Amino acid sequence: MSLSRVKNLVILGATGSIGDSTLDIVARHPDKFNVYAITGHSNLEKLIQLTHQFKPKYVLISDVEHYSSLKFLLKDLDTQVLAGEDEMVNICKLSEVDLVIAGIVGSAGMSPVLATVEAGKDLLLANKEALVVAGDLVMQAAIKNNANIIPLDSEHNAIYQCLPSNYTVGTTPKDIEKIILTASGGPFWNRKAETFQEITPEQACAHPNWDMGRKISVDSATLMNKGLEIIEAHWLFNLELCKIDVHVHPQSIIHSMVCYKDGSVLAQLGEPDMRIPIAYGLGLRERISSGANLIDLLNNKDLQFFPPDYQKFPCLQLARDAVEQGGTAMAILNFANEVTVEAFLNKQIPFTAIAQINEHIMTKAIINKVENVQQLQFLDKETRIQTCQMVKNYV
Ligand code: NAD
Ligand code: MG
Repeated sequence: MSLSRVKNLVILGATGSIGDSTLDIVARHPDKFNVYAITGHSNLEKLIQLTHQFKPKYVLISDVEHYSSLKFLLKDLDTQVLAGEDEMVNICKLSEVDLVIAGIVGSAGMSPVLATVEAGKDLLLANKEALVVAGDLVMQAAIKNNANIIPLDSEHNAIYQCLPSNYTVGTTPKDIEKIILTASGGPFWNRKAETFQEITPEQACAHPNWDMGRKISVDSATLMNKGLEIIEAHWLFNLELCKIDVHVHPQSIIHSMVCYKDGSVLAQLGEPDMRIPIAYGLGLRERISSGANLIDLLNNKDLQFFPPDYQKFPCLQLARDAVEQGGTAMAILNFANEVTVEAFLNKQIPFTAIAQINEHIMTKAIINKVENVQQLQFLDKETRIQTCQMVKNYV
């Protein structure tokens, strides 16, 4: 699809960090994009401000408790106010929609992501948890319905940029030896493991290079984020685990690399600014301005690379193990991790308990083949109950 006419966008999670970056680019290109629908979970104020600014046809609040307040507060605008997951799924499938941007955090984004690819729409995917949980179903539906998925996660977007322009996500890239996902190492890469017990949510959320939502910031601090990204790469690029390497690169300038069989390594470089991968997605591979600065390599001479430390950051190993186990293992790990991260942010458990409880859940888990969404939703509830119990009993 080219950028010849104005594209109607659905922005899921418009009130978050990915939403901010997306809307910043969209505002620079009114000739290319129309904000058709936006969603948010509970931040009424932001949703109202965005509705006034972008005048979408639909605004949706996923937490239905806020529906009547939002409807009342927007009564003077033409925008139609909706609420809940079912309506969100319906919006993604509407014929007027050209592109869906998945910027919801967590597995709550699974149903709209699946609905988008089932409807054969182009999907710009930031919501990695949707793919970690339902990668098999999403990729099968995308291929069956000819839906184009463009990864927005900076590493996967970098890989996508380093693959030939006729490459289709979901297929194994030709002539490659492996891919290398880079990782900043997060805020605690150089911190002594003995002090991890004392880490506070504020420290964990203060990422050295990227400004992101709280859940992904904690995941970056435990390196679970890189683990989820290994799983994401496994599904997006149809690669076995042995073809996916991780290099810690604290400067976050190289966003990932593709190693070809002739010895060539292609990398994508840039400022750590999510507007770069999002603009590449919105442009459907055409380059459009993003507002990001060009990287100044003369002032960034030290590009370092280290192997990841699996002892210090056990979540990374848990993710690799889950890919090896296959089936529902990846979903279970993700569900458990969503609960433990939330519990850490609420100061119910220490930082180190995130990995410990995730590991306990994985050791006890019974792994099955992924069959359908209902099975995953049931597993989500079950795993959350078990993990909450472990959080409560944690001493
Ligand atoms: P965020 O917390 O800033 O925003 C999350 C968005 O999801 C908000 O709009 C919120 O209203 C919505 N949301 C939260 N819970 C929801 C629920 N139960 N149902 C429906 N909507 C809900 O998070 P973020 O940093 O923008 O991250 C969003 C996704 O993008 C995550 O999956 C993250 O891993 C991925 N991602 C983010 C970045 C980044 O730089 N922020 C980079 C790469 C990937
Ligand atoms: Mg990333």
